[in-house]
Amino acid sequence: MKIGIDLDDTVWKFHEKFFEFYNEKYGTNYELKDYYIYNLEVFLGITREETHSLFKEYESLEKYKYIPFLEGVKEGIEYLSRNFEKNIFLTARLSSDENLVRDRLSKLSLENPEIFYQHDENRKYLGSKVSYCLKEGISVMIDDGYHNLEECSKEGIKCFLVDMPWNQDKELNENIIRVKDWKEIIEKLEEIKNE
Ligand SMILES: [Mg+2]
Repeated sequence: MKIGIDLDDTVWKFHEKFFEFYNEKYGTNYELKDYYIYNLEVFLGITREETHSLFKEYESLEKYKYIPFLEGVKEGIEYLSRNFEKNIFLTARLSSDENLVRDRLSKLSLENPEIFYQHDENRKYLGSKVSYCLKEGISVMIDDGYHNLEECSKEGIKCFLVDMPWNQDKELNENIIRVKDWKEIIEKLEEIKNE
């Protein structure tokens, strides 16, 4: 079995730390728990270009280079490596984030992780996560983004939705399981493995 894993807000705390950065810069008090729409343009009242340039500034800072992992990620990834054929990371990021992504992943015990970027360095769209999953034969996908899992689940891929404020109102079908943390991901995968 091959497992697909999203990066931002599934492996590391992208938005939690982004709001910390933003609050420091603008003297605001945004918190992750208030971010329920997953659209920074609407949430902060800024343009898409501003979002891109804020992300760029945020991720260029030494302080945020190694943003923390979600609880239990290290153990979770070790478990996946021990028990399944292959782990593949799938991200909406640009391929030009390669160095940053690999630096962060180097903190996990992984040998040359495989990463699929949905955009090239010029923001050109390279394809959906579901199409990549089907091409690679990925049978389980872990993501905080409901839109990705909705598509994957319709193709029979088992999906774990990482519980986040922005995915609370989503209706789950039989192939999408909400998980509160990585400990629960391991528990559910154990069940699937033994089915
Ligand atoms: Mg994500």
